[in-house]
Amino acid sequence: MILGNICTRDCLFCGVKKGSPLPVDSLEPAKIAQAVNKLGLEYVVVTSVTRDDLPDGGAAQFIAVIEALADKKVEVLIPDLQGNWNALGRIIYASPAVINHNVETVPRLYQKIRPQAGFKRSLELFYKVKAKNSQICTKSGFMVGLGEEDGEVFALLDELKSANCDLVTIGQYLPPSKIHLKVDRFVDPALFEDYKQYGEKIGIKHIEAGPFVRSSFNAEEIWKNLNV
Ligand code: SF4
Repeated sequence: MILGNICTRDCLFCGVKKGSPLPVDSLEPAKIAQAVNKLGLEYVVVTSVTRDDLPDGGAAQFIAVIEALADKKVEVLIPDLQGNWNALGRIIYASPAVINHNVETVPRLYQKIRPQAGFKRSLELFYKVKAKNSQICTKSGFMVGLGEEDGEVFALLDELKSANCDLVTIGQYLPPSKIHLKVDRFVDPALFEDYKQYGEKIGIKHIEAGPFVRSSFNAEEIWKNLNV
Protein backbone atom coordinates (compact mmCIF):
# COMPACT_ATOMS: atom_id res chain seq x y z
CA MET A 1 0.00 0.00 0.00
CA ILE A 2 1.50 3.32 -1.09
CA LEU A 3 0.89 6.93 -0.07
CA GLY A 4 0.84 6.20 3.65
CA ASN A 5 -1.62 4.50 5.96
CA ILE A 6 -3.99 7.37 6.75
CA CYS A 7 -7.09 7.83 4.59
CA THR A 8 -8.94 11.08 3.90
CA ARG A 9 -12.29 9.26 3.69
CA ASP A 10 -14.40 7.53 6.27
CA CYS A 11 -16.09 4.37 4.97
CA LEU A 12 -17.95 2.68 7.83
CA PHE A 13 -16.68 -0.82 6.98
CA CYS A 14 -12.99 -0.03 6.65
CA GLY A 15 -10.25 -0.55 9.24
CA VAL A 16 -7.75 1.89 7.71
CA LYS A 17 -6.81 4.85 9.95
CA LYS A 18 -8.65 8.11 9.09
CA GLY A 19 -7.32 11.65 9.29
CA SER A 20 -4.70 13.92 7.71
CA PRO A 21 -2.12 11.93 5.75
CA LEU A 22 1.63 12.56 5.90
CA PRO A 23 3.47 14.12 2.93
CA VAL A 24 4.19 11.89 -0.07
CA ASP A 25 7.47 9.96 0.22
CA SER A 26 9.47 10.58 -2.96
CA LEU A 27 11.69 7.59 -2.19
CA GLU A 28 8.73 5.20 -1.99
CA PRO A 29 8.83 3.94 -5.62
CA ALA A 30 12.52 3.00 -5.32
CA LYS A 31 11.92 1.32 -1.94
CA ILE A 32 9.05 -0.71 -3.43
CA ALA A 33 11.17 -1.79 -6.39
CA GLN A 34 13.88 -2.91 -3.97
CA ALA A 35 11.40 -4.93 -1.89
CA VAL A 36 9.81 -6.48 -4.99
CA ASN A 37 13.21 -7.58 -6.30
CA LYS A 38 14.21 -8.97 -2.93
CA LEU A 39 10.99 -11.01 -2.80
CA GLY A 40 11.44 -12.16 -6.40
CA LEU A 41 7.94 -11.07 -7.44
CA GLU A 42 6.84 -10.95 -11.07
CA TYR A 43 3.31 -9.72 -10.45
CA VAL A 44 2.69 -6.88 -8.02
CA VAL A 45 -0.58 -5.41 -6.72
CA VAL A 46 -0.18 -1.77 -5.70
CA THR A 47 -2.90 0.04 -3.80
CA SER A 48 -3.23 3.17 -1.69
CA VAL A 49 -5.40 4.93 0.80
CA THR A 50 -7.63 7.58 -0.79
CA ARG A 51 -5.69 10.87 -0.95
CA ASP A 52 -8.33 13.53 -1.56
CA ASP A 53 -5.81 16.04 -0.16
CA LEU A 54 -3.62 15.68 -3.28
CA PRO A 55 -4.74 17.51 -6.47
CA ASP A 56 -4.10 14.39 -8.58
CA GLY A 57 -5.37 11.95 -5.94
CA GLY A 58 -1.94 10.32 -5.82
CA ALA A 59 -1.80 9.48 -9.54
CA ALA A 60 1.81 10.71 -9.90
CA GLN A 61 2.95 8.33 -7.17
CA PHE A 62 1.14 5.39 -8.80
CA ILE A 63 2.87 6.26 -12.07
CA ALA A 64 6.28 6.51 -10.38
CA VAL A 65 5.75 3.05 -8.86
CA ILE A 66 4.64 1.55 -12.20
CA GLU A 67 7.76 3.01 -13.80
CA ALA A 68 10.01 1.72 -11.00
CA LEU A 69 8.53 -1.74 -11.64
CA ALA A 70 8.88 -1.53 -15.43
CA ASP A 71 10.01 -5.16 -15.78
CA LYS A 72 7.07 -6.54 -13.72
CA LYS A 73 3.36 -6.96 -14.31
CA VAL A 74 1.63 -4.37 -12.16
CA GLU A 75 -1.99 -4.33 -11.02
CA VAL A 76 -2.96 -0.95 -9.57
CA LEU A 77 -5.91 -0.84 -7.21
CA ILE A 78 -6.72 2.85 -7.36
CA PRO A 79 -9.19 5.24 -5.68
CA ASP A 80 -11.68 7.21 -7.79
CA LEU A 81 -9.31 10.24 -7.90
CA GLN A 82 -12.46 12.33 -7.23
CA GLY A 83 -13.24 12.01 -10.92
CA ASN A 84 -9.98 13.65 -12.02
CA TRP A 85 -9.94 11.89 -15.40
CA ASN A 86 -6.80 13.71 -16.54
CA ALA A 87 -4.94 12.09 -13.65
CA LEU A 88 -6.53 8.75 -14.56
CA GLY A 89 -5.40 9.27 -18.17
CA ARG A 90 -1.81 9.58 -16.98
CA ILE A 91 -2.09 6.29 -15.05
CA ILE A 92 -3.55 4.63 -18.17
CA TYR A 93 -0.67 6.01 -20.23
CA ALA A 94 1.81 4.33 -17.82
CA SER A 95 0.27 0.99 -18.98
CA PRO A 96 -0.25 -1.15 -15.90
CA ALA A 97 -1.47 -4.69 -16.69
CA VAL A 98 -4.64 -4.22 -14.66
CA ILE A 99 -6.54 -1.21 -13.34
CA ASN A 100 -8.62 -2.29 -10.38
CA HIS A 101 -11.08 -0.05 -8.58
CA ASN A 102 -13.41 -1.43 -5.96
CA VAL A 103 -17.05 -0.37 -5.99
CA GLU A 104 -17.26 -2.05 -2.55
CA THR A 105 -21.08 -2.22 -2.34
CA VAL A 106 -24.37 -1.71 -4.18
CA PRO A 107 -25.30 1.90 -5.16
CA ARG A 108 -28.17 2.22 -2.61
CA LEU A 109 -25.73 1.86 0.31
CA TYR A 110 -23.18 4.44 -0.84
CA GLN A 111 -24.71 7.41 0.97
CA LYS A 112 -24.91 5.50 4.25
CA ILE A 113 -21.61 3.64 4.33
CA ARG A 114 -19.32 5.32 1.72
CA PRO A 115 -20.52 8.93 1.88
CA GLN A 116 -17.54 10.52 0.13
CA ALA A 117 -17.65 8.12 -2.85
CA GLY A 118 -19.99 8.12 -5.83
CA PHE A 119 -21.21 5.00 -7.59
CA LYS A 120 -21.64 6.65 -11.00
CA ARG A 121 -18.16 8.16 -10.72
CA SER A 122 -16.68 4.74 -9.97
CA LEU A 123 -18.45 3.18 -12.95
CA GLU A 124 -17.26 5.99 -15.19
CA LEU A 125 -13.67 5.14 -14.27
CA PHE A 126 -13.99 1.78 -16.07
CA TYR A 127 -15.50 3.36 -19.17
CA LYS A 128 -12.62 5.83 -19.28
CA VAL A 129 -9.94 3.13 -18.98
CA LYS A 130 -11.36 1.01 -21.80
CA ALA A 131 -12.02 4.01 -24.01
CA LYS A 132 -8.38 5.09 -23.72
CA ASN A 133 -6.68 1.69 -23.79
CA SER A 134 -8.75 -1.44 -24.34
CA GLN A 135 -5.67 -3.62 -23.72
CA ILE A 136 -5.64 -2.78 -20.02
CA CYS A 137 -7.62 -5.27 -17.99
CA THR A 138 -10.29 -3.66 -15.78
CA LYS A 139 -11.23 -5.14 -12.43
CA SER A 140 -13.56 -4.35 -9.55
CA GLY A 141 -14.59 -5.86 -6.25
CA PHE A 142 -17.34 -5.63 -3.69
CA MET A 143 -18.46 -7.20 -0.44
CA VAL A 144 -21.73 -8.79 0.59
CA GLY A 145 -23.16 -8.71 4.10
CA LEU A 146 -23.28 -4.91 4.25
CA GLY A 147 -27.08 -4.65 3.95
CA GLU A 148 -27.63 -5.32 0.25
CA GLU A 149 -30.40 -7.49 -1.22
CA ASP A 150 -29.62 -10.33 -3.63
CA GLY A 151 -31.42 -8.58 -6.50
CA GLU A 152 -29.08 -5.62 -6.00
CA VAL A 153 -26.03 -7.91 -6.26
CA PHE A 154 -27.19 -9.23 -9.64
CA ALA A 155 -28.02 -5.68 -10.79
CA LEU A 156 -24.55 -4.54 -9.71
CA LEU A 157 -22.99 -7.28 -11.83
CA ASP A 158 -25.08 -6.01 -14.78
CA GLU A 159 -23.76 -2.47 -14.18
CA LEU A 160 -20.13 -3.66 -13.98
CA LYS A 161 -20.53 -5.61 -17.20
CA SER A 162 -22.03 -2.58 -18.96
CA ALA A 163 -19.12 -0.45 -17.72
CA ASN A 164 -16.62 -2.81 -19.41
CA CYS A 165 -15.28 -4.40 -16.26
CA ASP A 166 -13.36 -7.61 -17.13
CA LEU A 167 -12.82 -9.15 -13.69
CA VAL A 168 -14.78 -9.05 -10.44
CA THR A 169 -14.07 -10.23 -6.91
CA ILE A 170 -16.90 -10.78 -4.39
CA GLY A 171 -16.25 -11.55 -0.73
CA GLN A 172 -17.99 -11.68 2.63
CA TYR A 173 -17.81 -8.50 4.74
CA LEU A 174 -16.21 -9.06 8.15
CA PRO A 175 -15.99 -6.02 10.45
CA PRO A 176 -12.44 -5.00 11.32
CA SER A 177 -13.50 -4.14 14.92
CA LYS A 178 -16.52 -3.86 17.23
CA ILE A 179 -17.03 -0.18 16.38
CA HIS A 180 -17.33 -0.79 12.64
CA LEU A 181 -20.53 -1.53 10.73
CA LYS A 182 -22.10 -4.82 11.86
CA VAL A 183 -22.48 -7.77 9.49
CA ASP A 184 -25.98 -7.83 8.02
CA ARG A 185 -25.84 -11.44 6.80
CA PHE A 186 -23.44 -14.30 6.13
CA VAL A 187 -23.79 -15.42 2.52
CA ASP A 188 -23.81 -19.14 1.82
CA PRO A 189 -21.00 -20.43 -0.46
CA ALA A 190 -23.69 -21.77 -2.85
CA LEU A 191 -25.02 -18.23 -3.30
CA PHE A 192 -21.51 -16.94 -4.02
CA GLU A 193 -21.41 -19.58 -6.74
CA ASP A 194 -24.73 -18.26 -8.12
CA TYR A 195 -23.25 -14.74 -8.30
CA LYS A 196 -20.22 -16.08 -10.15
CA GLN A 197 -22.28 -18.12 -12.61
CA TYR A 198 -24.61 -15.22 -13.32
CA GLY A 199 -21.80 -12.69 -13.81
CA GLU A 200 -19.82 -14.94 -16.12
CA LYS A 201 -23.00 -15.79 -18.07
CA ILE A 202 -23.61 -12.11 -18.83
CA GLY A 203 -20.04 -11.76 -20.10
CA ILE A 204 -17.74 -10.74 -17.23
CA LYS A 205 -14.56 -12.64 -18.12
CA HIS A 206 -13.83 -14.02 -14.68
CA ILE A 207 -15.35 -13.76 -11.21
CA GLU A 208 -13.78 -14.89 -7.96
CA ALA A 209 -16.56 -15.24 -5.40
CA GLY A 210 -16.48 -16.78 -1.93
CA PRO A 211 -16.52 -15.92 1.75
CA PHE A 212 -12.77 -15.32 1.97
CA VAL A 213 -12.23 -13.72 -1.43
CA ARG A 214 -10.59 -10.29 -1.30
CA SER A 215 -9.46 -7.87 -4.01
CA SER A 216 -6.05 -9.42 -4.58
CA PHE A 217 -7.18 -13.04 -4.25
CA ASN A 218 -5.31 -15.17 -6.84
CA ALA A 219 -4.60 -11.93 -8.72
CA GLU A 220 -1.60 -13.20 -10.64
CA GLU A 221 -3.20 -16.54 -11.64
CA ILE A 222 -6.40 -14.86 -12.81
CA TRP A 223 -4.51 -12.36 -14.92
CA LYS A 224 -2.32 -15.11 -16.42
CA ASN A 225 -5.35 -17.27 -17.27
CA LEU A 226 -6.93 -14.37 -19.11
CA ASN A 227 -3.75 -13.72 -21.06
CA VAL A 228 -2.69 -17.20 -22.20
S1 SF4 B 1 -11.61 5.14 0.81
FE1 SF4 B 1 -10.76 3.06 0.86
S2 SF4 B 1 -9.13 3.12 2.40
FE2 SF4 B 1 -10.34 4.97 2.69
S3 SF4 B 1 -11.83 4.47 4.30
FE3 SF4 B 1 -12.83 4.04 2.30
S4 SF4 B 1 -12.39 1.85 1.85
FE4 SF4 B 1 -10.96 2.53 3.49
